[in-house]
Amino acid sequence: MIPFAANPEEILSELARLREADAPTHGGKVLSYVYDSGLAAVDELAAAAMLAVQPLNGLDPTTFTSIAVMEREVLGFMRTLLGGDDDVVGTVTSGGTESCMLAVKTARENFRGAGTPRLLAPASVHAAFHKAAHYFGLTLELIPVDAQGHADVAAMTAAMGPDVALVVASAPSYPHAAMDPVAQIAASAASRGIDCHVDACIGGLVLPFWPGLADWDFRVPGVTSISADLHKYGYAPKGASVLLTRGRDRQRSQYFATTSWPGYPVVNPTLLGSKSAGPLAAAWAIIKLLGTAGFADLAASCHRSTKALLAAVGGIEGLRVVGEPTGPLFAVAVDAAVPGDRRIDPHHWADRLKTHGFTAQLQPSFTQSDGSVLPRTTHLTITPVTESRLAELVTAMARAGDEVRGVPGIDPEQVLAAADGPMAGLLGDSSALIRDSETARKILGALGLDGRGLPQSMAPVLALVEALPSTVAEWLLTELLAGLVEPEPRGEP
Ligand SMILES: *Cc1c(COP(=O)(O)O)cnc(C)c1O
Repeated sequence: MIPFAANPEEILSELARLREADAPTHGGKVLSYVYDSGLAAVDELAAAAMLAVQPLNGLDPTTFTSIAVMEREVLGFMRTLLGGDDDVVGTVTSGGTESCMLAVKTARENFRGAGTPRLLAPASVHAAFHKAAHYFGLTLELIPVDAQGHADVAAMTAAMGPDVALVVASAPSYPHAAMDPVAQIAASAASRGIDCHVDACIGGLVLPFWPGLADWDFRVPGVTSISADLHKYGYAPKGASVLLTRGRDRQRSQYFATTSWPGYPVVNPTLLGSKSAGPLAAAWAIIKLLGTAGFADLAASCHRSTKALLAAVGGIEGLRVVGEPTGPLFAVAVDAAVPGDRRIDPHHWADRLKTHGFTAQLQPSFTQSDGSVLPRTTHLTITPVTESRLAELVTAMARAGDEVRGVPGIDPEQVLAAADGPMAGLLGDSSALIRDSETARKILGALGLDGRGLPQSMAPVLALVEALPSTVAEWLLTELLAGLVEPEPRGEP
């Protein structure tokens, strides 16, 4: 017998204690990150499916053949849902970021032009494409969107030169739920021989059931790949997404294969080597359980809730919905059309909403390459469970609005001025900054951000992000997050 260091019951009760501090994953209280179908049967089946494949290694579907069967069936379902024919093939990945990164990597492999390839997208495109360009050595060119978050097709078309490896459109965009004009963007790209990826990470399993949409998927001829997350509106546990690609030859460039080492022949369709089959099995089981009709019903619930919530925002003086959101998500901004003492700052509003039990996501203002500024917003993602507490949420939204109406938003410059004298100096002249971990900690400390966990109010933190040059904000946030997982100093518990 191996002497265990602790008994399993104690370990699990410790885990349960830790989990108590987590934001609630179910019940519709957190309006981002989690996607709750509201159906216990979905979660129970997913858990059982994960357990059933727990010991498998997704690295090798020839050894663990169940994985190939499940993946094939998931891809078949998604291909049909997204209007693809037999020419569309794909891969189940670990998430939206990996699907997007692989789409970019594939385009880079297939790029036949000279020089550094460019990745072209509206400025509203998901940060996963910034990451992909960074990892894979493409130049990211972001075309400014209008104040409503709409892509500028003419400007995108004008930028489609011979050095563009891939054009991206979102269906819809994450920040504002703007549906990019996929047909126009894809047609422009196709006529120049450029591939076009549709990022439907968030929309992929709801937009097929959303009323009144023009074609945006593989039914559009110039669309060459689509990403869609199973761990969003596929209601699967985190770790599952699909990347579908038109054309076998195009898709084969996604793979990495090598026999040039003394070990086993490596053939990886994704970034990972050894990988869990759990999220795939769960997604597969949920697809079997719900079927197309089940997903349609859940999307209909999201549609009813979203419509009601958009109307509710419309009834809150001082707030407005940004643009024309498509799908079960939207962003709200200050309504500058009303007098100052009637306006609502969306970040103060989100902080108040939290005190009423609902967590929404704060998004900073953003200056685009042409100097235009997209205002700060608060983002809400709506899932089927929301319908069961719609009245509660509508009331909380209205009350939160009443509580902060007329309270001016935090001025980014004032946040810096309020910081400790020498720290403010450091922040002001970012070029003089020594970017080491110790300096970062001092600055975070002076800003009251050195603890574990987030402060009560997020509005000042977001104002800080707005105030700082992005390189400085990225550096400080990296330190903040890295600090979260540093082991305790020796000698302490
Ligand atoms: C969520 C999302 C992604 C990234 O997906 P992750 O699963 O978080 O890695 C990419 N694009 C859009 C539009 C998304 O909503």
